[in-house]
Amino acid sequence: MSFTTLGLSAPILDTIAEQGYDKPSPIQLQAIPAVLNGSDLMAAAQTGTGKTAAFTLPILEILSKGQRAQANQARVLILTPTRELAAQVAASVETYGKKLPLTSTVVFGGVKINPQMIKLRRGIDVLVATPGRLLDLYNQNAVRFKHLEILVLDEADRMLDMGFIHDIRKIISFLPKQRQNLMFSATFSDEIRKLAKGMVYNPVEISVSPRNTTASTVKQWICPVDKKKKPALLLQLIVDNQWDQVLVFTKTKHGANRLTRYLEEGGIRAAAIHGNKSQAARTKALANFKKGMVQILVATDIAARGLDIDQLPQVVNFDLPNVAEDYIHRIGRTGRAGSTGQAVSLVAADEFKLLSDIEMLIKQILVRESVDGFEPVHVLPQSRLRPVRANKPKKPKRSKIGHTDGQRSGENSRGHKPAGKNKKQAGSYYKTRNKSSVRSR
Ligand code: AMP
Repeated sequence: MSFTTLGLSAPILDTIAEQGYDKPSPIQLQAIPAVLNGSDLMAAAQTGTGKTAAFTLPILEILSKGQRAQANQARVLILTPTRELAAQVAASVETYGKKLPLTSTVVFGGVKINPQMIKLRRGIDVLVATPGRLLDLYNQNAVRFKHLEILVLDEADRMLDMGFIHDIRKIISFLPKQRQNLMFSATFSDEIRKLAKGMVYNPVEISVSPRNTTASTVKQWICPVDKKKKPALLLQLIVDNQWDQVLVFTKTKHGANRLTRYLEEGGIRAAAIHGNKSQAARTKALANFKKGMVQILVATDIAARGLDIDQLPQVVNFDLPNVAEDYIHRIGRTGRAGSTGQAVSLVAADEFKLLSDIEMLIKQILVRESVDGFEPVHVLPQSRLRPVRANKPKKPKRSKIGHTDGQRSGENSRGHKPAGKNKKQAGSYYKTRNKSSVRSR
């Protein structure tokens, strides 16, 4: 199946060809016709599946046929949980739309608001935003949604985890009730379904990354080690294996700073990326990592979420995540787009419960490989896959939500009846990619 049969017009097809994409990914195959058809969408897909193009391409196609945005109005609103993801989605919109006479911009906090207000003045076809800054701009009358056609919620699960539910409900209350809604989420928990109920109408449902599975191209293993020896073990692993591009996850911001300092003292070029860092510092650290000037990027879960770094060979869980599902998100950073990667977790005895939760979730006991000189004094108990009920993964507390603006019934904004359900499962997608360096979209 090629892109040419999906209903996209020549300028977009040309751009796709320029990007070197030969064929649509499974999510693109299903989402593009559904979105063009005017349907609402609920898609379970992680980064790495081609989900950004899956919504961006048909959106650009739809926009190219309509009237340009009027002053201060936005025609499409894409909400993302983090600044990094917002910037990456905006870059994709710009890339895919470069042959079209459309405008797009991105707004997020941590940078000056005035330049953003100026950009919005003339109206914008595609606005990518994080919720907090969008509300600020709305409250200052910088943006209006009278002509909004499409709302996209990207990484909805993370939005809820980060406590954005009230902001999202508020934003939805400003939007016209007749609109198309596209919701993307790595997982579909009960909370997400509740949010969806008030947002999407009779959606086409797509699932391309079966919940709770990990990419088969990632070699996963654990190193049992005492807590105190983790920094030294990491340093040794980096040196012995000559790892030169590693994303390391720590549980806390302080942990990330401490580890970064330790690695730097050991002669390794490292940088930390987390919520306490300014936007400029985060952008710089990521750029330096991509350029190879920084060898080790130490990140907390929230900061790393959505980073588009192609073909990252190595991910290290310096601490296991508290929420087992974050393990899947973390290791989704490597082995992406079909390349193989390694994900190693340094596990201390007091993390056994977290390890068990992860192994239950991925339905797999992780291979253990001790490193000489780092065998733990505090022994990590043997894993076994226990019944799920015996050990439920911990979830962060989330706010309860009701229906938001239970908007419409019947037909959607373009007057089409939404298509029927289209549930399909597929594994991780890309088989080969030739690009050898990391880059942002
Ligand atoms: P995403 O899941 O949106 O984060 O996309 C992951 C990566 O896949 C991005 O770097 C895209 O440039 C790339 N990509 C998207 N669609 C395709 C495609 N059809 N063929 C090859 N690569 C793609």
